[in-house]
Amino acid sequence: MAGLEDLYREIILDHYRSPRNRGELPVPPAHKAEGFNPLCGDEVVVYLDVDPETETVRNIKIAGQGCSISQASTSMMSSAVKGKTLDEVRKLTRAFKALMSIHESKLEGEGDGSELERELEGVRLGDLEALQGVVKFPVRIKCATLAWNTLQQGLDEVERAPA
Ligand code: ZN
Repeated sequence: MAGLEDLYREIILDHYRSPRNRGELPVPPAHKAEGFNPLCGDEVVVYLDVDPETETVRNIKIAGQGCSISQASTSMMSSAVKGKTLDEVRKLTRAFKALMSIHESKLEGEGDGSELERELEGVRLGDLEALQGVVKFPVRIKCATLAWNTLQQGLDEVERAPA
């Protein structure tokens, strides 16, 4: 029987080889955010089209290059947030970051995971769960969170922009 780690590896490789939502959107009306992880050389570009009326991510496209973790994570992020409200996106971002950080503190013998459970309550991570193995390699956590930090940066800029 294939272990969970093999399954996770398959999911990550699938997103890396066939990234979802790859491409560009015209700027404007879309907003472009770029992120860089100098530790690994990963680049992530996110094109965001947010509908101000419904506060929904109407469309998202991704570009960039880097290691399999960073690019798979970006692909997963894009399919996870597409069509979601900004509120849901914020929840998902918190849940994913909790997944990355709580496991880390667990490995260091701190925390009991209850904060993770709180953040994850009612949030379905789907394929994103495949990235939880990354926390065993602390240097790769920045690869996994780069997509989400770039998304966050893009959303902040969208919200600050005059309507
Ligand atoms: Zn990387």
